[in-house]
Amino acid sequence: MAENSGIGWTDHTMNFWWGCHKVSTECQHCYIEGIMKRAGREPFNGPIRTVDWSKPFKWERQAKEQGRRFRVFTCSMSDFFEPGADRWRPEAWEVIRQCPSLDWLVLSKRPELIKDRLPADWGDGYANVWLGVTCGIASSLHWLDILKTIPARLRFVSAEPLLGPIDFRPFLDGSFQWIITGCEQAGVGKRRAMNLDWVRDIDQQCRQAGVPHFFKQRYEGGRIVHDGLLDGEVRQAWPVCPYAMNVEKEFVQ
Ligand code: SF4
Repeated sequence: MAENSGIGWTDHTMNFWWGCHKVSTECQHCYIEGIMKRAGREPFNGPIRTVDWSKPFKWERQAKEQGRRFRVFTCSMSDFFEPGADRWRPEAWEVIRQCPSLDWLVLSKRPELIKDRLPADWGDGYANVWLGVTCGIASSLHWLDILKTIPARLRFVSAEPLLGPIDFRPFLDGSFQWIITGCEQAGVGKRRAMNLDWVRDIDQQCRQAGVPHFFKQRYEGGRIVHDGLLDGEVRQAWPVCPYAMNVEKEFVQ
């Protein structure tokens, strides 16, 4: 797990398990494949539990000492709702529960599995959990329909890898509070190109709906660039987190 994540929209990354199964076209060039193979592991043979789950408690202490909140992305090396991790997930939920100063960004490509894998005290959502779904192509929009039905304090979409134009407007009615865009990270020859006009269009949709947009990355001159610049303006915004809306008191301790 990375203590300070290289992912621009999060502070830390916590991987409760590594390894996955490919489920969609967005998975085609999944980066965990190379990382796990270099580590001598088979990436798509289901997840393996990681050993050290102590980092979130350290970040929780630091967040309290510093009077701030940290965003924690889980899982970057798997999918939090990968069914092969069912036996470890209740313990992972318990870690999340015990770290209310951390905003947990739980991003999945398996929204249809979420409802049956929520903790018993989920209610209308933990105030420190943002639930997200990947949608990089219009044919994956049905995943937003599914996530919309799941109670959550904050829902978001990651349109990475962005593989085509997408009309998110029907979902920007208060159902989703944040959109991330970004190109595919893959080797030359494999990488599927992202057209900046698709990003511009999503940016306009977000502006019109008053939804924050985080433009994570693009390729320029053969290099990946993370500055978020779109036509000379940095487009990297975050949503207001539920805790900032005075809901601490509602969190079940
Ligand atoms: S769901 Fe995520 S981690 Fe799993 S194969 Fe797809 S891209 Fe890779």
